[in-house]
Amino acid sequence: MRIDLHTHSTASDGTTSPVDLVRAAAATGLDVVALTDHDTTAGWAGAAEALPPGLTLVPGAELSCVWPAPDGRVIGMHLLAYLFDPAEPVLRAERARVRDGRIVRARRMVELMQADGYPVRWDDVLREAAGGPVGRPHVARALVRHRLVADVASAFTPEWIGRGGRYRVVKPDTEVVDAIRMVRAAGGVPVVAHPLAAARGAVVPAEAYAAMAAAGLAGLEADHLDHDADARRRTREIAADHGLLVTGSSDFHGANKAVALGAATTDPAVYEELLDQATGSAPVAA
Ligand code: AMP
Ligand code: FE
Ligand code: FE
Ligand code: ZN
Repeated sequence: MRIDLHTHSTASDGTTSPVDLVRAAAATGLDVVALTDHDTTAGWAGAAEALPPGLTLVPGAELSCVWPAPDGRVIGMHLLAYLFDPAEPVLRAERARVRDGRIVRARRMVELMQADGYPVRWDDVLREAAGGPVGRPHVARALVRHRLVADVASAFTPEWIGRGGRYRVVKPDTEVVDAIRMVRAAGGVPVVAHPLAAARGAVVPAEAYAAMAAAGLAGLEADHLDHDADARRRTREIAADHGLLVTGSSDFHGANKAVALGAATTDPAVYEELLDQATGSAPVAA
């Protein structure tokens, strides 16, 4: 069994449509793929309808969260949520609130660039987002189109919209403990994505996971492109300390990121435990 529990489609900041994503997942030999677009479930139906025989779809999302540190810093986090009820009103409203915040924030990024004389327009970014949640990769693609940077990765620098970036603007994300409770209340299973991905910015300290575990956190994603061997080992230690499951996944984003479907996978026994905890929606098989 090959199980990839973290992928993005054109419903957020990937470049592969939900239909093509499930076809590619089957073609690459995956047995299970989770669709986890940022702050949206918009890709679920298309992926489910196109599901090839033999592939199971785990509907999910990657929720934009923050952990407020005791010293006043606010650390960004991503929370994978699997098999929640997409109609549950509290979590649904929170996804919409975060998506609205993404628009305000990306508009501000464009304004800051325009104030510095760059020809980027809000319309350029909106077109890249194609109706989905607007993310930094869409801003990056607009920069590529204007030949201001060579490729998407080159926009994630301090000169542009990367860590400490001149045009990086924060968005109003959900406090992670609240998000964990909301996911559980919607029948879903919450797993922290790439908890020690230090290249993205500050990471949450190990001691913060006690409160998250108490709120209902199910697991931590250890095997991920942004984790080196030491980060993977430390993630497993934190998970063991708090009785959390450990997952692995690609975080596939199509052409926006140099990683293949199935580049990392989750143990079948862990997958079964995640399924056992889910009550909000069911995995889909053709
Ligand atoms: P946002 O959620 O709008 O803040 O954008 C975060 C997204 O940017 C992530 O989900 C990735 O898809 C993408 N991203 C982050 N860092 C990089 C990077 N160094 N190169 C390419 N894409 C990145
Ligand atoms: Fe992304
Ligand atoms: Fe993420
Ligand atoms: Zn992701």
